[in-house]
Amino acid sequence: MEARRRTKIVATLGPSVRDGAALEAMVRAGMDVARVNASHASHAVISEEIASLREAARRAGREVGVILDLMGPKLRVGELPGGGIDLSPGQEVVISSTLQPGCGASCIPLDVEGFTGRLSAGDEVLMDDGALRLRVLESSAVGARCRVEAGGKLRSRKGISAPGVDLGLPALTEKDLADLEVGLSRGIDWVALSYVGSASDVSRLREEMGRMGCAVPVIAKIERRAAVERADEIIAEADAVMVARGDLGVEMPLEEVPLLQKRIVEAAASRGKPVIIATQMLQSMIEHPSPTRAEVSDVANAVLEGADAVMLSGETAVGAYPVDAVNTMRRIILKAEGALPYERWLEERRRWISRGRVEAVAYAACELALRLGAGAIVTPTESGFTALQVSRFRPGQPILAPTPHERTARRMALYWGVLPRWGKMEGDTRGMLLSAGEAARAEGLAAAGDTVVVTAGIRKPGEEGVPTTNTIHCLAIEE
Ligand code: PEP
Repeated sequence: MEARRRTKIVATLGPSVRDGAALEAMVRAGMDVARVNASHASHAVISEEIASLREAARRAGREVGVILDLMGPKLRVGELPGGGIDLSPGQEVVISSTLQPGCGASCIPLDVEGFTGRLSAGDEVLMDDGALRLRVLESSAVGARCRVEAGGKLRSRKGISAPGVDLGLPALTEKDLADLEVGLSRGIDWVALSYVGSASDVSRLREEMGRMGCAVPVIAKIERRAAVERADEIIAEADAVMVARGDLGVEMPLEEVPLLQKRIVEAAASRGKPVIIATQMLQSMIEHPSPTRAEVSDVANAVLEGADAVMLSGETAVGAYPVDAVNTMRRIILKAEGALPYERWLEERRRWISRGRVEAVAYAACELALRLGAGAIVTPTESGFTALQVSRFRPGQPILAPTPHERTARRMALYWGVLPRWGKMEGDTRGMLLSAGEAARAEGLAAAGDTVVVTAGIRKPGEEGVPTTNTIHCLAIEE
């Protein structure tokens, strides 16, 4: 059953899954990609989490990708006494980067300077993705006196922001660069860039990786108003996008988030870029063993909209039921996928084909697989590009993607409908077709008498290098 799931599950690592058994259980439950959140991880923790994940994936026999999610210029409150303080409506508090950690129940220390200097009396300050709200009474470069409007428990290191106030911060900080270097040295498969404001933020990250001598694909997190306004140029530049609804719902009116999500999913799909829907998907499972009806609908809706992946954050990082959360997500996805309109999607997505040979071949492979009732589309691939192009058309058949490169296999773990398989690949066309058929049979996707559609880049005699997708073969599976 697991082999038939199309929409991928990204799960955030953290204290709840530090022990190897829990991590392995999460991989077996269906986690396709792990997210290491640099906002909450020291360099030692980044290295440990990646190493434990790799070990758990090896034990479970699955290709699991790793995203390093850079913190970006996110402002966070510092350490609070006892890990958190209670804020009551009407209470006055002081926020300042010069306060000492643990300075008292009315003091909120910040971990960066320069924030309060940009605030004015009357501004709104939000914390913990908008769950707590303050109103600025007076502010200077040293600190701000505020009144609590919406109270609750404020925990250490929660995010703090002031919607509409330009804080003039760069998307890539010194901390991000240091974290990135550690992540790259540990073999991350993707990097997620927070608070992207324009396409140039993404290209700047690529330049930095170029300088570090190791580049991985970039996921642009859409979470600022500026990113919403420039979504098209950002999607065109990035390799994938994340609808980061936590911060997006702070920067934009909450009621706009569902429509923005839909718009971003469509814009990313039309450009062939994977899209992840993130934050609060099964939020109540941080504390409870089962989700709310509304959360179930939210996950199902993301699947029906055509997202490539859905993400768990606190549910797996700090929640009491991390494995249950992944299991729950898998069950919701499988049920919702039963209603996906594959044929209609294929028809609609045909209009995205411009004059590109690769996309035309990928589309034709999907169309053939549909007409022939094929068991699978097999995409032997070096870089994963063929698999991504086929995935883009959302075929009803599983996309089996053998690759000789482990890194490509882990990267493809994020792609909708793609089953990445790492192993030796035959060099000549005949050998490649034979092993494509064997792979489909071994996965239980085709038996004698069935057809599988194979699409790949095949070299002309004498041609060197990696050819782009140029060939389709309808392979009859024999006895
Ligand atoms: C978000 O804001 O929704 C998000 C995914 O980013 P982070 O968890 O880093 O705040």
